[in-house]
Parts: sequence; C-alpha cells; structure tokens
Amino acid sequence: MNDTVFGKIIRGEIPATKVYEDDDFLAFLDINPVTKGHTLLIPKIQYVWIHEVPDDIISAIFVKAKELINTMRRGLGCDYVQLGVVGNEVPHFHIHLIPRSLSETNVQTMRPHEPYENLEEMQLFAEKIKKELI
Ligand code: AMP
Repeated sequence: MNDTVFGKIIRGEIPATKVYEDDDFLAFLDINPVTKGHTLLIPKIQYVWIHEVPDDIISAIFVKAKELINTMRRGLGCDYVQLGVVGNEVPHFHIHLIPRSLSETNVQTMRPHEPYENLEEMQLFAEKIKKELI
C-alpha cells in the first residue's frame, strides 16, 4: 500500500488540482508552488527513488514531461519549464515542472515560493494548462 500523500491523491482519498491523468501517470499542481502553475508529474506505481524506476517508465514519463512542458508554455505563456527531481518530502518519485521566465535572475530549483491567493486562483491556473492539452 502506497501510504504517501501522492498514493492518497491517486486513490482519490484526498483532493488534488489535477491537470493531466492517464492509466500510468498523473499530473497535478503543487500546493506550495515555486511559481504559479508549478506541476508535479508522477507515475501511478510508487517508486521511491528515480534509480528504482524501470527504463520503460522513466522513458515514458520524460516524454510525458516534454508534452506537458509545451502544454504549460502555451497555457501559461512561460518561456520555459524547469524540471526538478528532489524527493526530500514525499517518497514517491515525481518530477517538478516549474514555469519560468527568461527575465528571472538567480533561478534556483525550489526557491523562492509564490503562493496562490486562494483555491480559485489555483484552479484557474490548472484550467489554463488543461485547455491546452492535445
Ligand atoms: P519533494 O518530495 O521534496 O520533491 O517535495 C514534494 C512536493 O510535494 C512539495 O513541493 C510539496 O509542496 C508537494 N506536495 C505535498 N503535498 C501535496 C499535496 N497534497 N498536493 C500537491 N502537492 C503536494
């Protein structure tokens, strides 16, 4: 049993602001975004570490990440999307997709943070991404 917060999201036991879902992967907004639209992409099967993920899944998830990057660029108007694999908090392998602007200086992977005003604003950012899904 995947008892992590991401396992609970996959099973629908706790809510998430989803932007993409298929049989193998789920993407949803990070509740503590580095920038607004910050998305987490996860495999539905739990692997704790990236080095444990089978090659076919690691290949497919990075292809999906690239698709989502272009979806986010269209929907959010960001210049590029920074990827991060951190894993300090949730022991379920995931990829951070962080919308970025070329005008930003001193870009770091997980800092600073830009909280949503409220749940409605978070939902609005999810909609901006979802409407660009092909
Ligand atoms: P890390 O494991 O260090 O890569 O960080 C885990 C990320 O998951 C953090 O950026 C958290 O803000 C995010 N997170 C934790 N719980 C939730 C949740 N319920 N919904 C969305 N994002 C979450």
